[in-house]
Amino acid sequence: MEYISTRGKIDSVGFIDAILMGLADDGGLLVPRHIPALSADTLKKWETLSYSELALEIFSLYIDGEIPREDLKKLVDDSYATFRDPEVTPVRRINDRLHVLELFHGPTFAFKDIALQFLGNLYSYVSRKNNSIIHILGATSGDTGASAIEGVRGKEGIRICILHPHQKVSKVQELQMTTVDDANVLNLSVHGTFDNCQRIIKELFADVSFKHKYHLRAINSINIARILAQTVYYFYAYFQLARKGETRTINFSVPTGNFGDIFAGYLAKRMGLPIGKLILATNENNILERFVKEGIYEPGEFRGTYSPSMDIQVASNFERYLYYLSGEDASAVSGLMSGFKAEGKIVIPADKLQQVQADFVAYGVHNDECLATIGTYYDDTNYLLDPHTACGVAATDKLAGDGEVTVALSTAHPAKFDESIQLVGITQTYPAQIEALFDKPQHQTIVDGTNEAIAEQVVKFYEAEA
Ligand SMILES: *Cc1c(COP(=O)(O)O)cnc(C)c1O
Repeated sequence: MEYISTRGKIDSVGFIDAILMGLADDGGLLVPRHIPALSADTLKKWETLSYSELALEIFSLYIDGEIPREDLKKLVDDSYATFRDPEVTPVRRINDRLHVLELFHGPTFAFKDIALQFLGNLYSYVSRKNNSIIHILGATSGDTGASAIEGVRGKEGIRICILHPHQKVSKVQELQMTTVDDANVLNLSVHGTFDNCQRIIKELFADVSFKHKYHLRAINSINIARILAQTVYYFYAYFQLARKGETRTINFSVPTGNFGDIFAGYLAKRMGLPIGKLILATNENNILERFVKEGIYEPGEFRGTYSPSMDIQVASNFERYLYYLSGEDASAVSGLMSGFKAEGKIVIPADKLQQVQADFVAYGVHNDECLATIGTYYDDTNYLLDPHTACGVAATDKLAGDGEVTVALSTAHPAKFDESIQLVGITQTYPAQIEALFDKPQHQTIVDGTNEAIAEQVVKFYEAEA
């Protein structure tokens, strides 16, 4: 499979180069040249596969022999062997119209593990095979950092530097990142918001000579490997319900920040998975809700919420959707993105808005509503939702139709966000792995949120002798 840029100004590259490139060298995002179309026969055949078998089939479509199948199988098996549930991503029935897809059974208790344990192993594989230096640089609203660090800590040939917004991640998220004592890990705690961190990273990557000089590699959801890995559980969840004889329309509800996870659902749908509604759930940072309702994409003021991993204004994957919305017209995307840079917003015409509304429905969940949802479901069903999952469930309650069943993606274990759970008046017990974090020393450097301050730290870390 060849990968091309949404802005059309680079030569196409293969899968491994696409992973290593991260952000396309023309500032766009990489997308597969064609989206593979699956026949009903193939879907039927896949229905009984295990999670890892299914992942292998889906990756094979996008990797196209560039990694020998035996090697790919080992990468996939190793990546999901660390998950605590034999189903990897089990579906739990909450009531007749709602199932929760638990994506938090990986090592850091959030859905980021599904893509990042694989990406960590893939980087390690490429580093060994090609003898290439892998210096990972990424920004996190909390979960990506922990998961990426876990995926590569102590691995030879790889170093990782992660920026998180100072005191704007949950305590457990902070501990998961900063209690790691491997020398190949650097945590930068940055004054400012996640959007600042993400913008700095994007600008450092956009400086192509800096990126090449220091061998910088991306782990943010701009990396196409993450999106591909996340399509797998849409298929797997769908098949789990189909196997149980579900015949109603199956919706998916997705708590969204960077538009990564929901884009994976959109991709699964375009590959031929017969999904009903794709429900886009946001919190009070509701730029994407407004886009779906009014056709205006305009980042505004940052709001701190109970679901901090979604406290994002500029959705880094949004450009991928714009590419498909423009009919795969890279020059149209370039035009929209330069307009966005100049004016701070994108307004799409009415015919395109109609398409958007055929692709998604959206709902922004207010802070009180988020907590109320956690409380209600806990009282009624004894199931404890984390605050991000609660946004997806609240959006389901608003937008799912009669006679439909919805799979709400559960993106994190509630133990990661006890600050929010406590506000509902619920006392939870931590899993032992999380409890143990509180006794460990932390390693982090607090820095100003400027490109210069970050670049200085990055250079120092990557120039140091191994
Ligand atoms: C990252 C994250 C999200 C948002 O996912 P995107 O891919 O950015 O849309 C939602 N919930 C949790 C717990 C997360 O860590």
